[in-house]
Amino acid sequence: MNSSDLAFDQRHIWHPYTSMSHPLPCYPVESAQGSELHLADGRVLVDGMSSWWAAVHGYNHPQLNQAAIEQLGKMAHVMFGGITHPSAVALCRQLVAMTPEQLECVFLADSGSVAVEVAIKMAMQYWQAKGEKRQRLLTLRNGYHGDTFAAMSVCDPQNSMHSLYQGYLPQHLFAPAPQCAFGTEWEPQDIAPFEQMISQHSVDIAAVILEPIVQGAGGMRFYHPAYLRQVRALCDRYGILLIADEIATGFGRTGKMFACEHAGISPDIMCLGKALTGGYMTLSAALTTRHVAETISNGEAGCFMHGPTFMANPLACAVASASLSLLAENRWQQQVASIERQLRSELMPLKQHPAVADVRVLGAIGVVEMRQPVEMARLQRYFVDRGVWIRPFGKLIYLMPPYVIEPEQLSKLTAAIASALGHLYQAA
Ligand code: PMP
Repeated sequence: MNSSDLAFDQRHIWHPYTSMSHPLPCYPVESAQGSELHLADGRVLVDGMSSWWAAVHGYNHPQLNQAAIEQLGKMAHVMFGGITHPSAVALCRQLVAMTPEQLECVFLADSGSVAVEVAIKMAMQYWQAKGEKRQRLLTLRNGYHGDTFAAMSVCDPQNSMHSLYQGYLPQHLFAPAPQCAFGTEWEPQDIAPFEQMISQHSVDIAAVILEPIVQGAGGMRFYHPAYLRQVRALCDRYGILLIADEIATGFGRTGKMFACEHAGISPDIMCLGKALTGGYMTLSAALTTRHVAETISNGEAGCFMHGPTFMANPLACAVASASLSLLAENRWQQQVASIERQLRSELMPLKQHPAVADVRVLGAIGVVEMRQPVEMARLQRYFVDRGVWIRPFGKLIYLMPPYVIEPEQLSKLTAAIASALGHLYQAA
Protein backbone atom coordinates (compact mmCIF):
# COMPACT_ATOMS: atom_id res chain seq x y z
CA MET A 1 0.00 0.00 0.00
CA ASN A 2 1.38 3.40 -0.93
CA SER A 3 0.55 6.86 0.32
CA SER A 4 -2.05 7.38 -2.42
CA ASP A 5 -3.91 4.25 -1.21
CA LEU A 6 -3.92 5.69 2.29
CA ALA A 7 -5.12 9.06 1.03
CA PHE A 8 -7.94 7.32 -0.89
CA ASP A 9 -8.86 5.36 2.22
CA GLN A 10 -9.07 8.53 4.30
CA ARG A 11 -11.16 10.35 1.71
CA HIS A 12 -13.56 7.59 0.61
CA ILE A 13 -13.80 4.69 3.05
CA TRP A 14 -15.75 4.58 6.28
CA HIS A 15 -14.11 2.72 9.17
CA PRO A 16 -16.00 1.64 12.31
CA TYR A 17 -17.28 4.64 14.24
CA THR A 18 -15.18 7.20 12.40
CA SER A 19 -15.72 10.61 10.94
CA MET A 20 -15.38 11.24 7.20
CA SER A 21 -14.34 14.83 7.85
CA HIS A 22 -11.78 14.06 10.58
CA PRO A 23 -10.78 10.43 10.11
CA LEU A 24 -8.40 8.96 12.64
CA PRO A 25 -5.18 7.41 11.34
CA CYS A 26 -5.30 3.84 10.01
CA TYR A 27 -2.44 1.36 9.98
CA PRO A 28 -2.11 -0.71 6.79
CA VAL A 29 -1.80 -4.43 7.55
CA GLU A 30 -0.42 -6.60 4.74
CA SER A 31 -0.62 -9.99 6.40
CA ALA A 32 -1.09 -11.65 9.76
CA GLN A 33 0.37 -14.79 11.22
CA GLY A 34 -0.30 -16.48 14.56
CA SER A 35 -0.60 -13.66 17.10
CA GLU A 36 1.11 -11.06 14.92
CA LEU A 37 0.02 -8.41 12.46
CA HIS A 38 2.51 -7.44 9.73
CA LEU A 39 2.33 -3.78 8.74
CA ALA A 40 3.05 -2.53 5.23
CA ASP A 41 6.16 -0.69 6.46
CA GLY A 42 7.67 -3.95 7.72
CA ARG A 43 6.84 -3.51 11.40
CA VAL A 44 5.37 -6.48 13.25
CA LEU A 45 2.78 -5.96 16.00
CA VAL A 46 1.73 -8.44 18.69
CA ASP A 47 -2.07 -8.59 18.51
CA GLY A 48 -3.92 -7.89 21.73
CA MET A 49 -7.39 -7.71 20.20
CA SER A 50 -8.06 -10.98 18.30
CA SER A 51 -9.79 -8.70 15.76
CA TRP A 52 -12.52 -7.91 18.35
CA TRP A 53 -12.88 -11.27 20.09
CA ALA A 54 -12.82 -13.29 16.89
CA ALA A 55 -9.38 -14.67 15.94
CA VAL A 56 -9.08 -17.10 18.85
CA HIS A 57 -6.75 -19.54 17.06
CA GLY A 58 -4.54 -16.78 15.64
CA TYR A 59 -4.20 -15.66 12.03
CA ASN A 60 -3.38 -17.69 8.95
CA HIS A 61 -4.05 -20.98 10.72
CA PRO A 62 -3.15 -24.00 8.55
CA GLN A 63 -6.26 -26.03 9.42
CA LEU A 64 -8.66 -23.15 8.93
CA ASN A 65 -6.93 -22.23 5.65
CA GLN A 66 -7.21 -25.84 4.53
CA ALA A 67 -10.92 -25.96 5.33
CA ALA A 68 -11.49 -22.81 3.26
CA ILE A 69 -9.41 -24.10 0.34
CA GLU A 70 -11.17 -27.47 0.30
CA GLN A 71 -14.58 -25.85 0.38
CA LEU A 72 -13.55 -23.37 -2.32
CA GLY A 73 -12.71 -26.32 -4.57
CA LYS A 74 -16.30 -27.56 -4.21
CA MET A 75 -18.36 -24.35 -4.09
CA ALA A 76 -17.98 -20.98 -2.44
CA HIS A 77 -21.69 -20.50 -2.07
CA VAL A 78 -25.04 -21.98 -2.87
CA MET A 79 -28.48 -20.75 -1.82
CA PHE A 80 -29.90 -22.37 1.33
CA GLY A 81 -33.55 -22.21 0.27
CA GLY A 82 -34.49 -25.75 -0.72
CA ILE A 83 -30.81 -26.82 -0.66
CA THR A 84 -28.52 -28.05 2.09
CA HIS A 85 -24.80 -28.93 2.10
CA PRO A 86 -22.36 -30.95 4.20
CA SER A 87 -20.54 -27.98 5.78
CA ALA A 88 -23.76 -26.52 7.20
CA VAL A 89 -24.86 -29.89 8.56
CA ALA A 90 -21.43 -30.60 10.11
CA LEU A 91 -21.33 -27.17 11.73
CA CYS A 92 -24.86 -27.34 13.12
CA ARG A 93 -24.24 -30.84 14.49
CA GLN A 94 -21.25 -29.46 16.39
CA LEU A 95 -23.21 -26.44 17.64
CA VAL A 96 -26.12 -28.55 18.87
CA ALA A 97 -23.71 -30.92 20.63
CA MET A 98 -21.65 -28.25 22.40
CA THR A 99 -24.37 -25.81 23.52
CA PRO A 100 -26.83 -26.51 26.38
CA GLU A 101 -28.93 -29.59 25.74
CA GLN A 102 -32.27 -27.86 25.20
CA LEU A 103 -30.89 -25.75 22.34
CA GLU A 104 -31.41 -27.90 19.30
CA CYS A 105 -32.67 -25.73 16.43
CA VAL A 106 -30.10 -23.56 14.65
CA PHE A 107 -30.63 -20.48 12.48
CA LEU A 108 -27.45 -19.42 10.64
CA ALA A 109 -27.20 -15.70 9.99
CA ASP A 110 -24.73 -13.19 8.62
CA SER A 111 -23.28 -11.28 11.55
CA GLY A 112 -23.64 -10.84 15.28
CA SER A 113 -26.11 -8.01 14.91
CA VAL A 114 -28.26 -10.07 12.55
CA ALA A 115 -28.24 -13.02 15.00
CA VAL A 116 -29.63 -10.59 17.58
CA GLU A 117 -32.28 -9.41 15.11
CA VAL A 118 -33.16 -13.05 14.46
CA ALA A 119 -33.37 -13.82 18.19
CA ILE A 120 -35.67 -10.84 18.77
CA LYS A 121 -37.87 -11.81 15.81
CA MET A 122 -38.06 -15.35 17.20
CA ALA A 123 -39.29 -13.97 20.52
CA MET A 124 -41.86 -11.76 18.78
CA GLN A 125 -43.17 -14.57 16.58
CA TYR A 126 -43.27 -16.92 19.58
CA TRP A 127 -45.69 -14.68 21.48
CA GLN A 128 -47.64 -13.86 18.35
CA ALA A 129 -48.15 -17.60 17.79
CA LYS A 130 -49.33 -17.98 21.38
CA GLY A 131 -51.91 -15.26 20.79
CA GLU A 132 -50.37 -12.81 23.24
CA LYS A 133 -49.37 -9.29 22.37
CA ARG A 134 -45.97 -9.04 23.98
CA GLN A 135 -43.53 -6.76 22.22
CA ARG A 136 -41.29 -5.34 24.88
CA LEU A 137 -37.82 -6.49 25.76
CA LEU A 138 -36.19 -6.14 29.15
CA THR A 139 -32.45 -5.65 29.15
CA LEU A 140 -29.60 -4.15 31.18
CA ARG A 141 -27.94 -0.77 31.08
CA ASN A 142 -24.35 -0.86 29.81
CA GLY A 143 -25.29 -3.65 27.41
CA TYR A 144 -24.23 -3.95 23.79
CA HIS A 145 -25.91 -6.14 21.17
CA GLY A 146 -24.98 -4.69 17.78
CA ASP A 147 -25.63 -1.78 15.46
CA THR A 148 -28.73 -2.75 13.46
CA PHE A 149 -31.99 -1.20 14.65
CA ALA A 150 -33.52 -3.92 16.81
CA ALA A 151 -30.10 -4.78 18.25
CA MET A 152 -29.38 -1.11 18.88
CA SER A 153 -32.71 -0.67 20.64
CA VAL A 154 -31.42 -2.94 23.44
CA CYS A 155 -27.94 -1.37 23.64
CA ASP A 156 -27.26 1.07 26.44
CA PRO A 157 -29.33 4.15 25.45
CA GLN A 158 -26.54 6.59 26.29
CA ASN A 159 -23.54 4.71 24.87
CA SER A 160 -25.28 4.02 21.58
CA MET A 161 -26.89 7.46 21.43
CA HIS A 162 -30.56 6.51 21.22
CA SER A 163 -31.28 10.23 21.17
CA LEU A 164 -30.17 10.30 17.50
CA TYR A 165 -33.05 8.01 16.51
CA GLN A 166 -35.80 9.30 18.74
CA GLY A 167 -39.26 8.35 17.55
CA TYR A 168 -37.85 5.58 15.38
CA LEU A 169 -36.36 3.13 17.87
CA PRO A 170 -38.71 0.87 19.80
CA GLN A 171 -38.80 1.74 23.49
CA HIS A 172 -37.66 -1.16 25.64
CA LEU A 173 -37.13 -1.58 29.38
CA PHE A 174 -33.70 -1.05 30.91
CA ALA A 175 -32.83 -2.38 34.34
CA PRO A 176 -29.76 -0.90 36.04
CA ALA A 177 -26.51 -2.68 35.19
CA PRO A 178 -25.51 -5.35 37.72
CA GLN A 179 -23.24 -3.90 40.39
CA CYS A 180 -22.07 -7.05 42.11
CA ALA A 181 -18.79 -7.97 40.40
CA PHE A 182 -17.62 -11.41 39.34
CA GLY A 183 -15.44 -12.95 42.04
CA THR A 184 -16.90 -10.88 44.87
CA GLU A 185 -19.46 -12.00 47.45
CA TRP A 186 -23.01 -12.07 46.08
CA GLU A 187 -25.23 -9.31 47.39
CA PRO A 188 -28.85 -10.45 46.96
CA GLN A 189 -30.19 -6.88 46.72
CA ASP A 190 -28.34 -6.48 43.39
CA ILE A 191 -31.18 -8.23 41.58
CA ALA A 192 -33.94 -6.19 43.28
CA PRO A 193 -34.32 -3.46 40.59
CA PHE A 194 -34.45 -6.08 37.83
CA GLU A 195 -36.94 -8.15 39.82
CA GLN A 196 -39.14 -5.14 40.31
CA MET A 197 -39.15 -4.29 36.60
CA ILE A 198 -39.87 -7.79 35.43
CA SER A 199 -42.71 -8.25 37.90
CA GLN A 200 -44.22 -4.86 37.10
CA HIS A 201 -44.18 -5.35 33.30
CA SER A 202 -44.36 -9.14 33.09
CA VAL A 203 -47.43 -9.33 30.84
CA ASP A 204 -45.84 -7.04 28.22
CA ILE A 205 -42.37 -8.57 28.13
CA ALA A 206 -41.57 -10.98 25.29
CA ALA A 207 -37.99 -11.67 26.33
CA VAL A 208 -35.09 -10.64 28.48
CA ILE A 209 -31.92 -10.12 26.46
CA LEU A 210 -28.49 -9.78 28.02
CA GLU A 211 -24.81 -10.57 27.65
CA PRO A 212 -24.08 -13.32 30.16
CA ILE A 213 -21.39 -12.46 32.79
CA VAL A 214 -19.40 -10.01 30.63
CA GLN A 215 -20.90 -6.76 29.42
CA GLY A 216 -18.47 -6.16 26.54
CA ALA A 217 -18.55 -3.08 24.33
CA GLY A 218 -20.78 -1.31 26.89
CA GLY A 219 -18.00 -1.12 29.48
CA MET A 220 -16.15 -4.46 29.82
CA ARG A 221 -17.91 -5.17 33.13
CA PHE A 222 -17.85 -8.65 34.71
CA TYR A 223 -20.86 -9.41 36.90
CA HIS A 224 -21.78 -12.07 39.42
CA PRO A 225 -23.09 -15.43 38.14
CA ALA A 226 -25.79 -15.37 40.83
CA TYR A 227 -27.31 -12.37 39.03
CA LEU A 228 -27.68 -14.43 35.86
CA ARG A 229 -29.12 -17.38 37.83
CA GLN A 230 -31.71 -15.07 39.36
CA VAL A 231 -32.59 -13.66 35.94
CA ARG A 232 -33.17 -17.20 34.66
CA ALA A 233 -35.35 -18.00 37.69
CA LEU A 234 -37.38 -14.81 37.24
CA CYS A 235 -37.88 -15.50 33.51
CA ASP A 236 -39.14 -18.96 34.46
CA ARG A 237 -41.46 -17.56 37.11
CA TYR A 238 -43.10 -15.18 34.62
CA GLY A 239 -42.87 -17.43 31.55
CA ILE A 240 -40.60 -14.95 29.75
CA LEU A 241 -37.98 -16.05 27.20
CA LEU A 242 -34.31 -15.51 27.99
CA ILE A 243 -31.98 -14.55 25.13
CA ALA A 244 -28.27 -14.93 25.94
CA ASP A 245 -26.06 -12.91 23.63
CA GLU A 246 -22.86 -15.01 23.69
CA ILE A 247 -21.50 -13.33 20.56
CA ALA A 248 -18.48 -11.93 22.42
CA THR A 249 -18.30 -14.38 25.33
CA GLY A 250 -18.83 -17.65 23.45
CA PHE A 251 -16.15 -20.20 22.55
CA GLY A 252 -14.00 -20.08 25.64
CA ARG A 253 -13.13 -16.42 26.06
CA THR A 254 -14.30 -16.19 29.70
CA GLY A 255 -12.73 -19.49 30.75
CA LYS A 256 -15.89 -21.52 30.07
CA MET A 257 -17.00 -22.61 26.60
CA PHE A 258 -20.06 -20.37 27.07
CA ALA A 259 -20.39 -17.71 29.75
CA CYS A 260 -23.81 -19.11 30.77
CA GLU A 261 -21.90 -22.07 32.23
CA HIS A 262 -20.52 -19.81 34.99
CA ALA A 263 -24.10 -19.65 36.27
CA GLY A 264 -25.12 -23.17 35.23
CA ILE A 265 -28.08 -21.85 33.24
CA SER A 266 -29.48 -22.45 29.81
CA PRO A 267 -31.20 -19.69 27.81
CA ASP A 268 -34.18 -20.15 25.49
CA ILE A 269 -32.28 -18.52 22.64
CA MET A 270 -28.51 -18.19 22.34
CA CYS A 271 -26.73 -15.88 19.87
CA LEU A 272 -23.26 -16.79 18.64
CA GLY A 273 -20.87 -15.00 16.28
CA LYS A 274 -17.39 -13.48 16.22
CA ALA A 275 -15.13 -16.46 17.13
CA LEU A 276 -17.58 -18.87 15.44
CA THR A 277 -15.38 -18.88 12.32
CA GLY A 278 -12.15 -18.41 14.26
CA GLY A 279 -12.26 -14.83 13.00
CA TYR A 280 -12.03 -15.80 9.31
CA MET A 281 -15.29 -14.43 7.97
CA THR A 282 -18.65 -13.25 9.11
CA LEU A 283 -21.15 -15.86 10.28
CA SER A 284 -23.47 -16.06 13.25
CA ALA A 285 -26.08 -18.36 14.71
CA ALA A 286 -29.18 -18.13 16.86
CA LEU A 287 -29.98 -21.41 18.57
CA THR A 288 -33.27 -22.14 20.24
CA THR A 289 -35.31 -24.89 21.87
CA ARG A 290 -37.65 -27.22 20.03
CA HIS A 291 -40.52 -25.73 22.05
CA VAL A 292 -39.81 -22.18 20.82
CA ALA A 293 -39.12 -23.37 17.25
CA GLU A 294 -42.32 -25.42 17.08
CA THR A 295 -44.47 -22.72 18.62
CA ILE A 296 -43.21 -20.25 16.00
CA SER A 297 -43.74 -22.80 13.22
CA ASN A 298 -47.34 -23.44 14.31
CA GLY A 299 -48.16 -19.75 14.30
CA GLU A 300 -49.96 -17.66 11.70
CA ALA A 301 -46.98 -17.41 9.29
CA GLY A 302 -46.36 -21.17 9.49
CA CYS A 303 -42.62 -20.54 9.42
CA PHE A 304 -39.92 -18.32 10.81
CA MET A 305 -39.89 -15.17 8.67
CA HIS A 306 -36.20 -14.74 7.88
CA GLY A 307 -33.99 -16.07 5.08
CA PRO A 308 -30.90 -14.13 4.02
CA THR A 309 -29.22 -14.56 0.62
CA PHE A 310 -25.95 -15.79 2.09
CA MET A 311 -27.54 -17.95 4.79
CA ALA A 312 -25.22 -20.83 5.76
CA ASN A 313 -22.53 -19.69 3.33
CA PRO A 314 -20.52 -22.88 2.71
CA LEU A 315 -17.10 -21.23 2.98
CA ALA A 316 -17.98 -19.70 6.34
CA CYS A 317 -19.57 -22.95 7.56
CA ALA A 318 -16.54 -25.02 6.53
CA VAL A 319 -14.14 -22.72 8.37
CA ALA A 320 -16.44 -22.49 11.41
CA SER A 321 -16.67 -26.25 11.56
CA ALA A 322 -12.86 -26.53 11.42
CA SER A 323 -12.59 -23.88 14.13
CA LEU A 324 -14.96 -25.81 16.41
CA SER A 325 -12.95 -28.98 15.74
CA LEU A 326 -9.84 -27.13 16.94
CA LEU A 327 -11.69 -26.09 20.09
CA ALA A 328 -12.80 -29.69 20.59
CA GLU A 329 -9.13 -30.69 20.86
CA ASN A 330 -9.43 -28.89 24.18
CA ARG A 331 -6.21 -26.93 24.30
CA TRP A 332 -8.21 -23.71 24.74
CA GLN A 333 -8.93 -24.39 28.41
CA GLN A 334 -5.28 -24.59 29.33
CA GLN A 335 -4.42 -21.66 27.07
CA VAL A 336 -7.14 -19.39 28.47
CA ALA A 337 -6.27 -20.38 32.06
CA SER A 338 -2.62 -19.51 31.58
CA ILE A 339 -3.46 -16.22 29.82
CA GLU A 340 -5.73 -15.42 32.79
CA ARG A 341 -2.93 -16.12 35.31
CA GLN A 342 -0.44 -14.03 33.39
CA LEU A 343 -2.88 -11.13 32.88
CA ARG A 344 -3.59 -11.14 36.61
CA SER A 345 0.03 -11.07 37.62
CA GLU A 346 1.09 -8.46 35.05
CA LEU A 347 -1.94 -6.13 34.96
CA MET A 348 -3.16 -6.13 38.58
CA PRO A 349 -0.16 -4.08 39.85
CA LEU A 350 -1.30 -1.26 37.53
CA LYS A 351 -4.22 -0.71 39.92
CA GLN A 352 -1.85 1.39 42.02
CA HIS A 353 -1.43 3.97 39.26
CA PRO A 354 -3.28 7.22 40.11
CA ALA A 355 -4.81 7.48 36.60
CA VAL A 356 -6.27 3.95 36.85
CA ALA A 357 -9.76 3.42 38.27
CA ASP A 358 -9.82 -0.39 38.13
CA VAL A 359 -8.09 -3.44 36.73
CA ARG A 360 -10.03 -6.65 36.13
CA VAL A 361 -9.33 -9.98 34.51
CA LEU A 362 -11.61 -12.85 33.52
CA GLY A 363 -10.48 -15.71 31.30
CA ALA A 364 -8.53 -14.30 28.37
CA ILE A 365 -9.82 -10.74 28.94
CA GLY A 366 -7.79 -8.11 30.77
CA VAL A 367 -9.15 -4.61 31.36
CA VAL A 368 -7.47 -1.47 32.63
CA GLU A 369 -10.15 1.12 33.28
CA MET A 370 -8.82 4.67 33.42
CA ARG A 371 -10.36 7.49 35.43
CA GLN A 372 -10.64 9.66 32.30
CA PRO A 373 -11.31 8.78 28.64
CA VAL A 374 -8.08 8.13 26.76
CA GLU A 375 -6.88 10.00 23.68
CA MET A 376 -7.30 7.11 21.32
CA ALA A 377 -5.14 8.20 18.36
CA ARG A 378 -2.21 9.21 20.57
CA LEU A 379 -2.32 6.07 22.67
CA GLN A 380 -2.73 3.91 19.58
CA ARG A 381 0.40 5.42 18.04
CA TYR A 382 2.29 4.92 21.29
CA PHE A 383 1.35 1.23 21.25
CA VAL A 384 2.21 0.73 17.58
CA ASP A 385 5.60 2.34 18.19
CA ARG A 386 6.14 -0.30 20.89
CA GLY A 387 5.22 -3.17 18.57
CA VAL A 388 1.75 -4.00 19.91
CA TRP A 389 -1.80 -3.73 18.60
CA ILE A 390 -4.09 -2.53 21.37
CA ARG A 391 -7.15 -0.44 20.54
CA PRO A 392 -8.55 1.39 23.54
CA PHE A 393 -12.02 2.95 23.67
CA GLY A 394 -13.47 5.46 26.10
CA LYS A 395 -11.80 4.89 29.46
CA LEU A 396 -10.86 1.32 28.63
CA ILE A 397 -7.51 -0.14 27.65
CA TYR A 398 -8.09 -3.85 27.28
CA LEU A 399 -6.57 -7.06 25.99
CA MET A 400 -8.22 -10.13 24.55
CA PRO A 401 -5.41 -11.88 22.72
CA PRO A 402 -5.63 -15.00 20.53
CA TYR A 403 -5.58 -18.12 22.75
CA VAL A 404 -2.34 -19.21 21.00
CA ILE A 405 -0.37 -16.18 22.19
CA GLU A 406 3.06 -16.99 23.67
CA PRO A 407 3.85 -15.78 27.22
CA GLU A 408 6.59 -13.43 25.90
CA GLN A 409 4.17 -11.91 23.41
CA LEU A 410 1.57 -11.38 26.14
CA SER A 411 4.22 -9.76 28.34
CA LYS A 412 5.00 -7.38 25.50
CA LEU A 413 1.33 -6.32 25.49
CA THR A 414 1.07 -5.83 29.24
CA ALA A 415 4.46 -4.06 29.35
CA ALA A 416 3.28 -1.64 26.67
CA ILE A 417 0.24 -0.73 28.79
CA ALA A 418 2.43 -0.27 31.88
CA SER A 419 4.83 1.86 29.89
CA ALA A 420 2.00 4.00 28.46
CA LEU A 421 0.73 4.63 31.98
CA GLY A 422 4.24 5.61 33.06
CA HIS A 423 4.92 7.93 30.13
CA LEU A 424 1.57 9.40 29.17
CA TYR A 425 -0.27 9.43 32.49
CA GLN A 426 2.15 10.80 35.04
CA ALA A 427 0.40 11.94 38.20
CA ALA A 428 -0.27 15.68 38.02
N1 PMP B 1 -23.45 -8.70 20.55
C1 PMP B 1 -22.30 -8.54 21.22
C2 PMP B 1 -22.25 -8.95 22.67
C3 PMP B 1 -21.18 -8.00 20.60
O1 PMP B 1 -20.04 -7.82 21.30
C4 PMP B 1 -21.26 -7.67 19.23
C5 PMP B 1 -20.06 -7.10 18.47
N2 PMP B 1 -19.23 -6.27 19.15
C6 PMP B 1 -22.47 -7.85 18.56
C7 PMP B 1 -23.54 -8.38 19.24
C8 PMP B 1 -22.64 -7.48 17.10
O2 PMP B 1 -21.89 -8.31 16.28
P1 PMP B 1 -21.49 -7.82 14.80
O3 PMP B 1 -20.52 -6.71 14.98
O4 PMP B 1 -20.87 -9.06 14.18
O5 PMP B 1 -22.73 -7.41 14.11
